[in-house]
Amino acid sequence: MNRSEPLARMSLRVEQDIFAVRQLGREVARAVGLESQDQTRVATALSEVCRVLLVAGADTDVTFRVESYGVPALQVTMAHSAAGGSSRLAEQLQLVGRLVDTMEVDDGGIGTTVRMARRLPSGAPVLTSTKMDEIRAALAQHVPGTPLDELAVQNQQLIAALDEVRAQRDDLARLNAELEETNRGVMALYHQLSDELEETNRGVVALYAELDEKSVQLRAASEAKSRFLANVSHELRAPVTAIIGLGRLMTDSSSDELTVDQQRQVDLIRSSASDLLSLVNGLLDLAKAEAGRLEPTWSEVDLKAMFGQLRGTLRPLATRPEVEFVVDEPTVPTLRSDEVLLAQVLRNLLTNALKFTESGSVRLSVRPIGADVEFVVADTGTGIPSELHERIFEEFYQVPGSMSVSGRGTGLGLPYARRLAGILGGGLRVASTPGTGSTFTLQLPAADQSAADKTSEPAS
Ligand code: ADP
Repeated sequence: MNRSEPLARMSLRVEQDIFAVRQLGREVARAVGLESQDQTRVATALSEVCRVLLVAGADTDVTFRVESYGVPALQVTMAHSAAGGSSRLAEQLQLVGRLVDTMEVDDGGIGTTVRMARRLPSGAPVLTSTKMDEIRAALAQHVPGTPLDELAVQNQQLIAALDEVRAQRDDLARLNAELEETNRGVMALYHQLSDELEETNRGVVALYAELDEKSVQLRAASEAKSRFLANVSHELRAPVTAIIGLGRLMTDSSSDELTVDQQRQVDLIRSSASDLLSLVNGLLDLAKAEAGRLEPTWSEVDLKAMFGQLRGTLRPLATRPEVEFVVDEPTVPTLRSDEVLLAQVLRNLLTNALKFTESGSVRLSVRPIGADVEFVVADTGTGIPSELHERIFEEFYQVPGSMSVSGRGTGLGLPYARRLAGILGGGLRVASTPGTGSTFTLQLPAADQSAADKTSEPAS
């Protein structure tokens, strides 16, 4: 005997047979290893199909087999001798089909075949041919019980099913309660988080308001400082100029002759007054630039002429033979800018370079970089430690211990130069290594800035 040979078969002719088929179905399901719920499913599906087929009239042969549906499955074939009506049958059995894995209705030449299958669980015992033979033998011994017996079995199954439903309902209720609890926890956490967020937001808003207020105060303070500097320096200029003039008069040949001591003292007064005047002038320039009172006058600047002028006016400062002072021929012929302000920045940078270079060279050049033009003042002087590269642009800051070759400065040249660079629409930066030299780069836009300037806020 082989595997595909039926495990059991039965004929369905009268109503009583439905019970017998049902019982046999459950027995076969149990024998092949289906679980108790699946046994009931198969039995119920079978009795429903049988009921429908019996109503349709004619005899039905019911055959039980184990077939492969990917995995082994119990297959029940019900061959009904009346042909036709398969589509109606399929419709009637649609609901029943849910009890098993597959349910097919076929119209074969001699009749209609209903085939349903339920897969065996993975833990079911392996059905070797010996095992199959044993099952066949056992089923052959099966004596169908009375309808009353079947009713009793059905009742028991119903009670078991109801028990299970109740257990599932209890489980569900418990799960729901847990879920509700979790939800409450999540909601509480959410509320707490959103409260905290709101609190933080309020703090941030307050902080911003405070920051705004502080920056308004800061702007007001800076304006007051510029106004004060402008006024004081302006007021100081006249008396300081007078002191220089008077000093000159006292040492004039037409004045009474002074003793050597007096001459030395008057010279000291004059040189101190000159220092003071350059400080006052520097402060006034810076204050004007900071107050936005410097309005650039835009024009097409001839760089060749400007470089020539710088070469001429600064050569007298390059007194040391060890320092080569070079102003390159400009590779950019003209630039739209403010001639006076641009020359002022370059003069400041070149004066510094000459001041802080003992030997080597000081060189001015200009080059186009993308949409910008860069003026480069490079020297081989003392250099500036990298941590001070930004500090030297602060008012009055001078690198401690940096020895100028020619006299003390005011510490206002670089902050002023950077201001002017900003007013001209560009920037000023430094690269420097102590002992090697410094390179100051003034970067200006090559495009016309006067149009952009007109749209900017008018200076107050
Ligand atoms: P001043 O030259 O009048 O002191 P600046 O604002 O022009 O003021 O420069 C500030 C300081 O930066 C200088 O005192 C000097 O210490 C340093 N510095 C500026 N240019 C150079 C340079 N080319 N080489 C070395 N140090 C420089």
